[in-house]
Amino acid sequence: MDFLFSPWRYRYLASVREIEGCIFCDHLAAADDAARLVLARYSQVAVVLNLYPYTNGHLMIFPCEHRAWLHELPAAAQQQMLAIAARAESALLREYRPDGVNVGMNLGEAAGAGIAGHLHLHVVPRWFGDSNFMTVVGETRVLPEDLSRTYQRLKPYFSE
Ligand SMILES: [Zn+2]
Repeated sequence: MDFLFSPWRYRYLASVREIEGCIFCDHLAAADDAARLVLARYSQVAVVLNLYPYTNGHLMIFPCEHRAWLHELPAAAQQQMLAIAARAESALLREYRPDGVNVGMNLGEAAGAGIAGHLHLHVVPRWFGDSNFMTVVGETRVLPEDLSRTYQRLKPYFSE
């Protein structure tokens, strides 16, 4: 779980992205979901692959409304977020056969939120020994699977 709650790591990612505005709202406003790795849009939430995944299949679920805190979301959005998290968990278990799955949120900058203004739920497949899965040298990650391949593998599970 350590990686979900490491503020320094998210500050690094935020600086890499040079965020202007809100990337989640940008995703929703854009038309090309495949180019933006948006897996699905529902009435209350959307699903997108993380551009800087901790493991293959790392995705995020975010509300269509720009809200920082869970309590600010309408009940329907809170409920759909959890329902889609369950769908994501099922998809990852079936497609990637991980040994476990982390599901978590970092709310507020002090909690490690890289994009503090727009909450998002991380869903991360985990394997025994995956701390060695990606080499972290000088903040550079090496991933064995291309994000476009991850997108192709997971997309069908969200359109069923
Ligand atoms: Zn936003």
